[in-house]
Amino acid sequence: MNLKETIREIPDYPEKGISFKDITTMLKDSEAFKEVVNQVHENFRDKGITKIVSLESRGFIVGGAVAYLLDAGFVPVRKKGKLPAETVTESYELEYGSDQIEMHLDALTEDDVVLIHDDLLATGGTALAALNLVEKMKVKKVYFSFICDLKFISNGKKDQLSKYETHTLVEY
Ligand code: AMP
Repeated sequence: MNLKETIREIPDYPEKGISFKDITTMLKDSEAFKEVVNQVHENFRDKGITKIVSLESRGFIVGGAVAYLLDAGFVPVRKKGKLPAETVTESYELEYGSDQIEMHLDALTEDDVVLIHDDLLATGGTALAALNLVEKMKVKKVYFSFICDLKFISNGKKDQLSKYETHTLVEY
């Protein structure tokens, strides 16, 4: 199946010059959704992943399904102020704008092997902020998974992520 064809591109959203990769068209296609979840599961099934750390909000959808298949726990990373208990916080920059993300302080332990999942890797700012949150917990190992990778963006942040094993399904 050509997964790229199931992802809708919206020009100039949410700002002029951004080509937004809309995964809702992939998610509503039951075969495409299953294919994405199965491929991520297949890639990480032998890695001993204990927790999927997923990013609000589009990362939650596939991240939750993969956590179920991997028999792993699910840890949400959310925008500042959304999590109810004590948190760790990181600032980050988006392809458009900047923000802060948080994770519960007790979400991970030193015994965890973590897969950080999001729908899309653009500048790498969000993924790097998530990595910084996860590394505060001194986990055993970190992997990355993205549905889409905007390969045409390359910068120092992405270079910092390159030493981690990363799985992506659709490249632009
Ligand atoms: P970045 O931090 O620049 O790597 O951006 C990644 C985050 O922003 C992900 O959570 C994406 O959901 C979102 N994002 C950034 N650029 C796009 C885009 N062109 N299309 C869809 N989502 C995007």
